[in-house]
Amino acid sequence: MGDDGPAAELGAAVGALALVDHHVHPALVTGLSHGEFEELITESDRGVPPGTTRFDSQLGLAIRRWCGPVLGLPASVPAQAYLGRRDALGADEVARRLLRASGVAHWLIDTGYPRAGMLGLTAMAEAAGGGVEEVVRLESVAEQAIMAGNGSAAGFAERFRGALWERTTFACGVKSIVAYRFGLDFDPRPPTAAEVADAAGRWLRQIDASGTARAADPVLLRFLLWAGVDRGLPVQIHTGFGDPDVDLRRADPLLLRGFCELTQERAVPLMLLHCYPYHRQAGYLAHTYPHVYLDVGLALNHVGARAAAVVAESLELAPFGKVLFSSDAWGPPELHYLGALLWRRATARVLGGWVESGDWALADAIRVAGMIGAQNARRVYRLP
Ligand SMILES: [Zn+2]
Repeated sequence: MGDDGPAAELGAAVGALALVDHHVHPALVTGLSHGEFEELITESDRGVPPGTTRFDSQLGLAIRRWCGPVLGLPASVPAQAYLGRRDALGADEVARRLLRASGVAHWLIDTGYPRAGMLGLTAMAEAAGGGVEEVVRLESVAEQAIMAGNGSAAGFAERFRGALWERTTFACGVKSIVAYRFGLDFDPRPPTAAEVADAAGRWLRQIDASGTARAADPVLLRFLLWAGVDRGLPVQIHTGFGDPDVDLRRADPLLLRGFCELTQERAVPLMLLHCYPYHRQAGYLAHTYPHVYLDVGLALNHVGARAAAVVAESLELAPFGKVLFSSDAWGPPELHYLGALLWRRATARVLGGWVESGDWALADAIRVAGMIGAQNARRVYRLP
């Protein structure tokens, strides 16, 4: 892109967008050792390979390049100096600076995967200087509902539905992690009441044996998803890239085709999260089904300087009213900031290229960036 002309105008417009981050987790505000920080900038849950550092990755370089200046450092100082500055400023100030620098006006927060030291919803709103809404995880509500039943499987379905409706009184959406707990290759039909009661009984016996409640039975997971559809709020579904707890082969969103077919008449939005490396498959579903949407959050932080390639691929088949911005940041506020920054840079570059080649009008590029960055989320989640 040149320094002036349409591309620069588009860059300025995208840079100024008040974004809605439609899938994100709270920021972590504790001091972090070098080792702890490295563990939080990868999706791997395994040790750092000997002789290497997690900073030698697209995400690591992006942190030094882009977050350093927000903390008052020159761009791309060594990792040690970056972490030293982080310690000197303190975790609260680091979070405040990075969250505010993101230019995100509204955060839709998945509260289902907490860690000690993460901000609560109100504290997140204060630190970020923006609005927050909650997205409630179906599996978390189920795990609380099964424990609240005094060992009885009979009333589980009703107890879960009651708890879900209560927990989501003020929520803007629900989320399913069926990809983590089973895979997206589940039977798409709603289970019968008898099947759900049987599955709840099996689950209770497992809880007795193991002492922990983890919703992983495919019948129950289907029941939760369909209850989420009944609730009527947008249903976020994890697909594609994530930590190794997900079997990536079974996280291809195309496996949801049957579920898309069966839910279409209900007109409840299905929000396919992350999608990478299956974002083109997700784009096909969004192209085909009126109620299917997608994002490429999480991937952009991890592909860093290659974010433009992923953004470009997400804008092939998918209609522009069906693509949303998200960071999927979890933990260090660097991820919240970079999610927004890398999306802005990639979007300006991709759409700017189409304007420069004469394929798109500048006014359309500015309009589409605004749809993906904020307006699609405001419409689908009915944000104030
Ligand atoms: Zn997430």
